[in-house]
Amino acid sequence: MDYTTATSINLARLLKEGGTARAQGVVQEAFVVGEERFPLQGEASWRVAISSVGGNEYWLSGEVEGVVLMECRRCLRPTPTRIHAHFQHLLHYEPGLEEVVFHEEGEEEFYAFGLPDLDLLPFLTEAFVTEMPYTVLCEEGCKGLCPVCGADRNVEDCGHEPEAFHPFLGLKDLLPEL
Ligand SMILES: [Zn+2]
Ligand SMILES: [Zn+2]
Repeated sequence: MDYTTATSINLARLLKEGGTARAQGVVQEAFVVGEERFPLQGEASWRVAISSVGGNEYWLSGEVEGVVLMECRRCLRPTPTRIHAHFQHLLHYEPGLEEVVFHEEGEEEFYAFGLPDLDLLPFLTEAFVTEMPYTVLCEEGCKGLCPVCGADRNVEDCGHEPEAFHPFLGLKDLLPEL
C-alpha cells in the first residue's frame, strides 16, 4: 500500500493507550462530492491529529491544502485556486459501529465511529470544499465569453458589441411602429 495516498488513520493504539495519533498524506487528482468532481492541480496535502479527551471522546483536528481548478465565472477557463482549510470535530468511539455516523444533540455535534481504521477522506473533502469560494475570476479584467457567438473575448475580438444586448433594446422589435 502506498502510504502517502491512503486517507485512513489507524487508532488501535490510541483507543487502547490514549494520547495522540497523527497521520499525514496527500490526495491526488480530485475531491469528489456525489456527482461533483473538484479537480486538483498537483496533490492536496493533509495532516491530522486525533487526541483522547477522556471517556469515549476524541478530538480530531487537521488541515488540508491544495490547488483546485475552478471555472472562471466569466470565461469558464479552469482557474487554479489555492485552498487551505482547517477543521476540528469531536468523535465518539462506539465499539462495533460499522460506519461513521454524524450526531447532533442540542448544542453538541459529534461523529460516532466504531472501527480502529478511521477513513479521513470525508473529513478532508468536507473541509476543502467548504473553504472553496463560490466563484473565481481567471484574472481581474477577464472579458468573458461573447453572449452572441460564445467566443472567448480574452483571446479573440469577434466584433460583437455587448451593448447590443441591453435587455430594453429588445422592446424595439416588439413595438416596431414606435
Ligand atoms: Zn476568465
Ligand atoms: Zn461574438
